[in-house]
Amino acid sequence: MNALQIVTRGIEPIMEVQTRVVSYMTDYMVRRGFRWLLPVMLSSVTDPLWPEPSAERVMRPPEIRAYGSRLRLTHSMILHKQMAVAMGVDRLFVLSPNVRLEDPSADDGRHAYEFTQLDFEMAGASMDDVMALIEGLFRGLFLEMREVVGEVFGREVPEVRTPFRRFTMEEIREEFGDEEKASEAMDEPFWIVDIPREFYDREDPEKPGHFRNYDLILPEGYGEVSSGGEREWEYGVIVRKMKRAGLDPEAFRPYLEVAKAGLLKPSAGAGIGVERLVRYLVGAKHIAEVQPFPRIPGVPALI
Ligand code: AMP
Ligand code: MG
Repeated sequence: MNALQIVTRGIEPIMEVQTRVVSYMTDYMVRRGFRWLLPVMLSSVTDPLWPEPSAERVMRPPEIRAYGSRLRLTHSMILHKQMAVAMGVDRLFVLSPNVRLEDPSADDGRHAYEFTQLDFEMAGASMDDVMALIEGLFRGLFLEMREVVGEVFGREVPEVRTPFRRFTMEEIREEFGDEEKASEAMDEPFWIVDIPREFYDREDPEKPGHFRNYDLILPEGYGEVSSGGEREWEYGVIVRKMKRAGLDPEAFRPYLEVAKAGLLKPSAGAGIGVERLVRYLVGAKHIAEVQPFPRIPGVPALI
């Protein structure tokens, strides 16, 4: 694709859908008392992302040097969300632009190296609280979008029933084979719960090796659209889990200072990928189709 093809693609109707999606989601959060934070794009600390550093390929955030310090482009705002809760902002959300240099060999149509998530966090919340909040958001948003998506894209958005079905990874394997096949087989969104991943997702104290976290998977093969979890907040637990994952606690110094002072609080939250959600609603084959300026791993960005 060249710059002229990008500019003449006729992306306007998709931007109408995106505008409605972002407007609906931000209204939904504001009406429920969430404070709207602005994004943090550069920081000394950021999300290490899964997998652990011993894995074959680890994503490293691009860095810049400025004012005598090293700043990283934020992979996500998870650590900042926890620290904002520590500041006393008990319910917060942010439209967070993230840069992740994803592996170009795994082009599945849903990875961009620059994308935006609606990322939120709630002090004192449980996984059930967050899942119910997201279910209400998706049910209302899908109802709201049915007409325009039907008229402009000839596509039927399902009237979803809540609560969405919940599966463990083991149940997914037994019933469908894998997550991808489950997404293809289902015609409504569903949850996968209890997923081993980053140190900040809470390990169930009553069931070590199990995690109080969740992914929301879209139907028709569109795959994951949201990830979240209850969070760890105790210094000792966080450091132990960082070490277990092969991470150097020194790389998270300011965050750990806050944790050590006992200022992190129990919270739970999630992030919802805006481009992935829009892609599903308009029925686009590839995420590049819904990005005015596509950012596809391995493909040089023209503009
Ligand atoms: P995560 O917590 O890392 O799963 O990110 C939260 C959400 O952001 C995911 O569920 C996706 O919807 C979205 N997301 C993550 N990585 C990408 C990517 N490379 N391209 C597009 N969307 C992404
Ligand atoms: Mg995820």
